[in-house]
Amino acid sequence: MRHLLSKVAERIRAIEDHFTVRAHITIAFAVMIVALVGALATGAALVSYRNTAELVNTRLAAVASITAERLDRYMAVRQQEVHLFSKLELLQGLWQGDHSTLRKTLEQLQSSFSDFAWIGFAQPDGKVVAATKGMLEGASVAQRPWFRTGLNDPMVGDVHEAALLASLLAKRADGEPHRFVDIALPIRNADGVLIGVLGAHLDWQWAQTVIARSEATDQESDTTLTVVSKTGTVLVGNGMNTTRFAGDKLATILQTRAGTFAEKVGEQNSLTAYFVGNGHREYQGLNWIVTASQPADVALAAAVHSAKNILFIGAAVGLFGMALAFLIAQRISNPIHAITLEADRIGRSSGPSMLPRQRGSLEVVQLTQALRSLLRRIGFAEERTKEAELRATENALQFKDDLSKLRRLADTDYLTELMNRRSFIVAANDAMEFAVRYKRSIATLMIDIDHFKVINDTYGHHVGDIAIKKIAEIVQSNIKSTDRAARFGGEEFVVLLREADERTAQALGDRIRRAVELAIIGEGEIRLSATVSVGVSLIADSDRDVQDMIERADQGLYVAKNTGRNRCFVMPATEERGIRAA
Ligand code: GH3
Ligand code: MG
Ligand code: MG
Repeated sequence: MRHLLSKVAERIRAIEDHFTVRAHITIAFAVMIVALVGALATGAALVSYRNTAELVNTRLAAVASITAERLDRYMAVRQQEVHLFSKLELLQGLWQGDHSTLRKTLEQLQSSFSDFAWIGFAQPDGKVVAATKGMLEGASVAQRPWFRTGLNDPMVGDVHEAALLASLLAKRADGEPHRFVDIALPIRNADGVLIGVLGAHLDWQWAQTVIARSEATDQESDTTLTVVSKTGTVLVGNGMNTTRFAGDKLATILQTRAGTFAEKVGEQNSLTAYFVGNGHREYQGLNWIVTASQPADVALAAAVHSAKNILFIGAAVGLFGMALAFLIAQRISNPIHAITLEADRIGRSSGPSMLPRQRGSLEVVQLTQALRSLLRRIGFAEERTKEAELRATENALQFKDDLSKLRRLADTDYLTELMNRRSFIVAANDAMEFAVRYKRSIATLMIDIDHFKVINDTYGHHVGDIAIKKIAEIVQSNIKSTDRAARFGGEEFVVLLREADERTAQALGDRIRRAVELAIIGEGEIRLSATVSVGVSLIADSDRDVQDMIERADQGLYVAKNTGRNRCFVMPATEERGIRAA
């Protein structure tokens, strides 16, 4: 799980790397604005919707309760009227008297109280003895509920279709059957003995009139009202005579007496308020349920409209916010972009390696300052590195110089500045190897000052040194640059000649000998001359190394010394063995 989370985070970071700061800020703002405006607009729309629904419900509840009260008040008044009839002094003598007079009186009452469709008086056995327009006179109403209840108590019966009167009354214009509400009460004589039942039928038409008037007076023309009996049957309104409520729903309505609910009537959603009538004064009421309904789309049109407005304003605010976010993001990212471009240019062009000052926000100013400071430090460090490099080069050169001086010193004889024995042997070995490999001829001269001890003894050691130096100069000046001359200790010199045959070697030996002979050696007042003896040897096949050739030259020198000095003698290789043997 953690692995997966870190992988997702890594992926998000990888995606983020591809977005500019501007895109980041714009997206963040957009998401924030959409979420905020969306939540606010949805919330506001919901609140507005709920408020509107509540208002609609309140209004519908008011319509339902007012209508229910109107119905109840009407019924109460009618009940009171029937009660009044029963108490009329005028009628007291007529209950058991002349039936035609009773009929006339009842008809008079009916003409004054036009809502009564029928008023009649029945004897305790159920026989109608007098009734308006003579209707049902002589017939028995013993089985009618109003009569049976009315024998004992005043009653108000619920709406029903005309039973016995149906055939007597003229047909209604709308083809509907006549419906009545019955009011009845027992009539007793002065002794309290039951003498009959006074019954009245109210034409149910009036209720429809009340409902129609209520519907008409309500501002919302879409409001429909129904009156439903306590058994759930529609008494007035849409779906007349059908069952509207049943079971738990009906029980809840009768128990709560007033309330609202949403229902689906056909394809249409409706808001409905109900009010159960609870009578008026002595009238107990019949628990009529008055409902006021309105189609939800009409009722909530205002709410939908305001929600739309809110969403529209929200969208406009959101768009404005996003545009603002884009501009802000641009202002933030522009200096960063400029810094990137400038930083990228550093070191590419020949211009100064310095970042121009950027502005835009404190961070950008600080970033530029930090980068400028960094560049200054880098420049300083660069200069110091260059300086150090220069010094290192100088040191290296100096070292090289010192080293070559040292090497020269190590290879050079301090007095004559010729090669010393060690360096000479190294060079002679190289030359020897080369000569052997490529079959070239090389020669060696061994030169020794004659009777040097005498010079030393006569003029002193110092003058001896001057003589050594002078002769060294003569040797050096007579050889070619490819040849090598060395002081071999004391007053002995060795010369290595490249590409030299016997004749050349001897000629050189003689030239040096003569030059020394002619030279004047001196310092201050002292003037003297000296001679040298020269031994010459040439490379031979028998030579194992350069030492063999040098030794042969030394032997030549020995011969030159022994044969009179101031002369040059070439020591032949073949003679070597003979001398050694001698
Ligand atoms: P010969 O003709 O047989 O060569 O006689 P010589 O007197 O020259 O004999 P030898 O070559 O054996 O003498 C070498 C002398 O050179 C011995 C020493 O006192 C002297 N000598 C050696 N080295 C130096 C030096 O560096 N300076 C001076 N002044 N004298 C030196
Ligand atoms: Mg010597
Ligand atoms: Mg000597």
